[in-house]
Amino acid sequence: MTPIIELGNPILRQHASLIDKIQDQDIQNLIEDLMATVAQANGVGIAAPQIAASYRLFIVASRPNPRYPHAPQMEPTAMINPKIIGHSTEVVKGWEGCLSVPGIRGFVPRYQAIAVEYTDRNGKLQQQELTDFVARIFQHEYDHLDGILFVDRLESTQDMITEQEYQQRFVNNT
Ligand code: ZN
Repeated sequence: MTPIIELGNPILRQHASLIDKIQDQDIQNLIEDLMATVAQANGVGIAAPQIAASYRLFIVASRPNPRYPHAPQMEPTAMINPKIIGHSTEVVKGWEGCLSVPGIRGFVPRYQAIAVEYTDRNGKLQQQELTDFVARIFQHEYDHLDGILFVDRLESTQDMITEQEYQQRFVNNT
């Protein structure tokens, strides 16, 4: 597992670079590293800049775990040079955390549904429609590639609570 950099590290604020040679061993190793790191950290997604690699690549890996007990199950997917090519008019607020902002949760507005395009780890262009929690993960990870963190998206600082309060309010009692 590679160390995850945290809020305050300037790499998290950079605009990440496009990847042109997906088959390069360095990029394939980076994908493996991200997959292992997100699994070990109980994350549902991780972007390359979070392990100090400023490339347009992230993993979406929704599955139920102690940090997100109600997350839907999916195969961890590497998304390279991703784009949002369309979105719903509906915006919904939901709770998010971030491995780079430990101890804090925020109630963040995101598009309810998005149409996305990305290149997969085999170099194949993929188009998908994502909704609800998985659409939220994608939008959160996509922001990392542009140097944006979920705390930047909060409508109010009152939409921010600690992990302990979050667990008590929304996880332990449900
Ligand atoms: Zn994050």
